[in-house]
Amino acid sequence: MEHYDLIKQMTLEEKASLMSGKNFWNTKAIERLDIPSIMLTDGPHGLRKQGGKADHLGLHKSLPATCYPTAATLANSWDKSLVYDVGKDIGKEARSERVSVLLGPGLNIKRNPLCGRNFEYFSEDPYLTGVLASEMVKGIQSNGISACPKHYAVNSQEHMRMTIDEIVDERSLREIYLTGFEKVVKESNPHTMMSSYNRVNGEFANENQYLVNDILYSEWGFDGVVVTDWGGNNDRVAGLRAHNQLEMPSTNGITDKEIVDAINAGTLDESILDQAVDQLLSLIFKVRLDDKPPVQIDYDKHYKKAVEAARQSIVLLKNDYNILPLKAGTKVAVIGDFAKNPRYQGAGSSLINPYKLSDPLAHLQKSSLDIVGYGQGFKRMGGKSSKLVQEAISLAKSSETVLLFIGLDESAEAEGVDREDLKISQNQLELVESLVKVNENVVVILSGGGALELPFAEKVRGIIHTYLSGQGGGEAVVDILLGKCNPSGKLNETFPLEYADVPSSSYYPGQQATSEHKEGLFIGYRYYETANVPVLYPFGYGLSYTTFEYSNLRIENFTVSFDLTNKGKVAGAEIAQLYIEMLDSKIFRANKELKGFDKVYLEPGETKRMTLVLTERDFSFYNPETKCWEIESGNYKIQVGSSIQDIHLEETVEMIGVNPSVFLKSELPHYAMADVKYIPDIEFEKILGRKLPPTIWDPQKSLGMNDTINQAQYKNWVGKVLYKSIMFFHYFFKWIGRPLTANNVYFIINMPFRQVDRFTGGKLSRKNVDRLLRWINR
Ligand code: BGC
Repeated sequence: MEHYDLIKQMTLEEKASLMSGKNFWNTKAIERLDIPSIMLTDGPHGLRKQGGKADHLGLHKSLPATCYPTAATLANSWDKSLVYDVGKDIGKEARSERVSVLLGPGLNIKRNPLCGRNFEYFSEDPYLTGVLASEMVKGIQSNGISACPKHYAVNSQEHMRMTIDEIVDERSLREIYLTGFEKVVKESNPHTMMSSYNRVNGEFANENQYLVNDILYSEWGFDGVVVTDWGGNNDRVAGLRAHNQLEMPSTNGITDKEIVDAINAGTLDESILDQAVDQLLSLIFKVRLDDKPPVQIDYDKHYKKAVEAARQSIVLLKNDYNILPLKAGTKVAVIGDFAKNPRYQGAGSSLINPYKLSDPLAHLQKSSLDIVGYGQGFKRMGGKSSKLVQEAISLAKSSETVLLFIGLDESAEAEGVDREDLKISQNQLELVESLVKVNENVVVILSGGGALELPFAEKVRGIIHTYLSGQGGGEAVVDILLGKCNPSGKLNETFPLEYADVPSSSYYPGQQATSEHKEGLFIGYRYYETANVPVLYPFGYGLSYTTFEYSNLRIENFTVSFDLTNKGKVAGAEIAQLYIEMLDSKIFRANKELKGFDKVYLEPGETKRMTLVLTERDFSFYNPETKCWEIESGNYKIQVGSSIQDIHLEETVEMIGVNPSVFLKSELPHYAMADVKYIPDIEFEKILGRKLPPTIWDPQKSLGMNDTINQAQYKNWVGKVLYKSIMFFHYFFKWIGRPLTANNVYFIINMPFRQVDRFTGGKLSRKNVDRLLRWINR
């Protein structure tokens, strides 16, 4: 133990006290032993340090900070050094505010595009996720503080996120859900890691011996501290046993006492507590800031970086007749509320109070374009307005080109709530229809943190997706519209034609008890490519104002090299992607998997030699029987292209490995064909290796501390009244146009009873919650 001498001087109570927060954001200090308190706070795309009241839902204001593009946006840049730099800036702002642990990046896999927090996550692909998240961690930690990758693991949905049991087979767990975390641990050595709220295969993530002890610590060699998600503790002693050292936020000493009692009763070995204290002390002494000099922030410089990050991340989806970039002097109508009031981040614990905010309209008005006028076009929160539509139509008639800013409003993507569909609201869709009838040059500029259904895609000439591009997004998109910046972003996720095409659409978000990952490893492009399902825009897709040529592929051992040439008239950046496809595999697997990429900037006519290095792991699948990554003997096609569907170069290599006897296509007919939307239980159970637990909660059973207020609706009148009153407030706030408050009220519905006393700061004590449960269960 590194801190043996110090720990020896502590009482049992002092040691236990360190295992939970002092308040919402700080650890406890022990002054007599010179152990300082450190601060942990959000994250992930900027600093959210609250000066006054504290909460984990973005309810109370935080200090002004730079709001960078969210992870889902930044991931479209595929730019490792950019992501590092953004991490470095955020970490610097954290350090300047004496924040020792920044709660991010978020790197859960986008299993389904409806997940309400997808805007905080990088990709549907674990390789892209892992590479970019590692860069973010390195950037943050270069400031001498700690990043805190989250939420470990399989936090794929917001619906019942604090109780849901994510049922996932071992191979998909390893190949899809854990790969990003594994890469981050091995490549960037984060000093902390946040466990998720949900259960994974029956056990809460933070009590999950297998996930935390066996995989994170023993297998991957993580040597930092695991912290619970805020209020994510279930059984404190079980959490400590699994290696979850720090519980946040404060529990007013309740759970510290549980630790002391367990040791006194002989049910918990004191050495486990000592080891946890030792690990926590290592973190505290590594990242304490009370003894370090303050750093100064140049917020204007950070603003410029935020603009640059957005420029690299915005994706050009359509550009018919080269309608973009716009020429100086073009008569342009600017329509849509999002032009004036940009939507640049999502709601919840990641809500940043931006230091400075750019809006597209102001930048357009300052530009070389001839702006004929601005019209709001639609009511942001839905509902018809023929006045706004008429105004927009007359502006469109009097202009050469219409720039139409539409997207998802603030209530659509938020922590605690999943999206209901992939649609843009009806009033905005109707506006598009009206405008294309009077002007054939409509360019749609989208805001939203992920995939959308775009029924108008064929009817408009140009489409740009800004995602949620942070405080500099307004300036960045205007640079792209004008050609001051050549767009280079490429999608980190597939855009399906419609939601029904999504592989997990028939399982997501599960029922009250479990969420079955029956689609297995066929997430995102792994499904669409293998099952031959047409999509709106494929993974890795994005247009440029120039064209690139790929040539001279060479593969020597594990090194893949090729030439990339800018064939157009303007400079630009290309993201070259490397996919591996196994030919004649005996086991079921995705047709192609991303295993390398690089982004390169080229002047017109310039050629650069690109080199990507593969590893054995890139050819491997995970075999749960041998507990090893194994290569199946056979031929593998190495493909290089500009998106998953646009492959320019390929060559086949032979690999010698094993002759697998698991996951055989011959034994798993649906998985063999990637026909995963309706997998029979029996086939899922085969890859799961056990019988499926009940997915529906039995309403005859009594409600317990780990059940949610949502479930109270199935019980007696007390439960029904409780449920309905909360829903009443939810709808009421929606109705009066306060969607964020409405979402936060809804959040309570999915809260387990065990959390109520903590959430209300003890105003509703455990005793009272017990009493309430007794009434509901009568
Ligand atoms: C979120 C975390 C966040 C924490 C603290 C939780 O609700 O899931 O991502 O870091 O709150 O705000």
